[in-house]
Amino acid sequence: MMGDRDFRSIIQNTLSSIGKELEIDIDSKNIETIHLKEVVQCLRRSYYDRIDPKDLERRGFNELLSGLLRKLQYGSDPKDFEIENLKLRGHADMIVDDTILLFRPASSEEIESPLANDVLYLNACMWIYGKEDGIIVYISGDRKENTFSLTRNKKMFEDIIRRVRVLNNLLKEQKAPILEPSTDCEYCQYFERCYTTKKNTKQLSLAEMLGMGKKD
Ligand code: SF4
Repeated sequence: MMGDRDFRSIIQNTLSSIGKELEIDIDSKNIETIHLKEVVQCLRRSYYDRIDPKDLERRGFNELLSGLLRKLQYGSDPKDFEIENLKLRGHADMIVDDTILLFRPASSEEIESPLANDVLYLNACMWIYGKEDGIIVYISGDRKENTFSLTRNKKMFEDIIRRVRVLNNLLKEQKAPILEPSTDCEYCQYFERCYTTKKNTKQLSLAEMLGMGKKD
């Protein structure tokens, strides 16, 4: 009979294999092309993904939603934005009637505001594809939707361009970017590299690393 542990590992392996198929394809050697996904998340994580990657443990099938949509016939094609000798490559999920659409999984039914990373991603897509409007659709496990529309913001895009240059420089110099503590750290595959000290292997809690907890 199939034990609980085996069953869980089958689900994990399936999620991991499908996730790899659907991931944005990044050529880690080509540091002149930086992907939008890499600069809206923690730069240190993107650096490790290129230099010394570790598999990400996925939490559920709804995490695969965006990748699945990009692969469908109504998914959009990637597009490059030239920054002197560098390229920023964006990939919207869909473009309908001149509006950029992103689909993201949601852990709860009601979402009060979109996540910062998603806003940065959508805003940058609007500049890369030359569109004025964009929408983020959050879909929860019970198929409830929350929709947010956005108009583009130049200052926000300039910050993304700055991050492209920073990541390119650090990859060139083979220097790991500084930590960017956030709630993403909790599920990041590089948590131990960032928060475990070598000498006594003391591990920090999420509250401590965000400066919310008291250290003993
Ligand atoms: S644990 Fe946090 S700071 Fe470290 S790479 Fe991951 S997201 Fe970045």
